[in-house]
Parts: sequence; C-alpha cells; structure tokens
Amino acid sequence: MSAAHKHDEGVLLVVSGPSGAGKGTICDALRRLHPEIRYSISVTTRPQRVGEVDGVNYFFTSVDKFKDMLQQDAFLEYAEVYNNYYGTPRKQVLDLVHEGKTVLLEIDIQGAMQVKKKYPEGIFIYIVPPSLQELSHRLYARDTDSKEVIQMRLAKVISELELAHQYDYIVVNDKLDEAVDKVRAIMVAERCKLSRNKEQIDTIFEKYITREVM
Ligand code: 5GP
Repeated sequence: MSAAHKHDEGVLLVVSGPSGAGKGTICDALRRLHPEIRYSISVTTRPQRVGEVDGVNYFFTSVDKFKDMLQQDAFLEYAEVYNNYYGTPRKQVLDLVHEGKTVLLEIDIQGAMQVKKKYPEGIFIYIVPPSLQELSHRLYARDTDSKEVIQMRLAKVISELELAHQYDYIVVNDKLDEAVDKVRAIMVAERCKLSRNKEQIDTIFEKYITREVM
C-alpha cells in the first residue's frame, strides 16, 4: 500500500427525486439511524422558510455572493431550481469522502447529473412516489407552496422522468419504513464493496501472513 493512501474511499450517496416524493423524510430517517453519515449543507439564494435555520438546513445567501462562489469554482454542482440557486460546497464534500466517510447529498436531478460527471463513483438513488396522483396529493396536503408552484413542480417531474434512467437505484416511496430500509440496504452494500475495503482487507490478511492469529 502506498504511503499516500491513508484511507479507503468513502461513499458519496446522492439522493434525488421530485419534491413530495419524500426524499427529505427518508434522508432524515437514515441520518437518525446512522449518525455517522455526513450531510452536505447546501448554499441557496431562496428565502428562508419558517422553522429553517441558517447553517443547519441551508446556508442562505444573496445572488451576488452565490455568483462569487461560482466564479471561485466552490461548487461540486449547482442548479437553478424554481428560480432560486442551490449549490453543494465542493471541497467539504470531497474531503470527507476521501477520508472514508459516507456523505449524503440531497439534491435535484440537474445537480445529480453534474456530480455524476465529476464523481462517477458516487451512488445515485432516485426516490419516486407510487404514482403522480399520489405526488400531487402529497404536495397539496403539505400546504407549503402555492398552487402555481405545485403545478410547476408537477410539470418538472414529468420532464425529468427520462433522466431518472441514469440513476443506479430507484426506490419507490410507498411505505416510508420500507423505503428507508431500502436506501439503508443500498448504503450498507456499497460500504461492503471490495474496492472500498482494500486497506482493511490488507490489514486482516497481514495478520494471517504474520501468523498473529495462530
Ligand atoms: P427546497 O427549496 O424545497 O428546500 O428545495 C428545492 C429543491 O432543490 C429540492 O429538489 C432539493 O433537493 C434541491 N436542492 C437542495 N439543495 C440543492 C443543491 O445543493 N443542489 C441542487 N442541485 N439541488 C438542491
């Protein structure tokens, strides 16, 4: 093993899906079950909603500051979603993955496709509602957005269906518990991949070779 190689690579989990598919709820549940998961806090220009905390839900910023960061190549990906900018801080995320951590990104499909280009080793999971009717029902029931915004979101879902084929995994969020289990199973399986455990395997085999166990 080379001296420069200090850690096996971690897992970059990229979770997307239409708003109302329940990806936020799934990601929150996963993080409760796995507190070791690092979550990337995005930078956004959208107004802060009631109950949201700056530096916890997002880093809220101005369009000018966001554009400065763009110029400095500070984002792993960024997107304009519903007339607001959202971006993932690049260095913070990649440093953690290189250290061997599992990092969770909950980002829209445009952003996910940019991450796939820059970091193809990422694991891309698309969360879908059981049907479009159910999605529409959930968006209205949530009561956080106007009718126009909801209609814009539904139109976006339909236009994005093609891109969903580029993901590694699709999880249908019919029953929340089952959807969380599935995302968890994907993460655990990815962590067990041989390619991510070379260092650990070397250590185990070294002990056999040096007969420390005999
Ligand atoms: P919301 O405004 O409801 O919090 O998020 C709107 C959409 O923006 C969601 O689909 C969410 O996943 C996406 N989003 C949040 N942060 C980022 C980000 O850093 N990059 C991208 N591309 N999308 C994001």
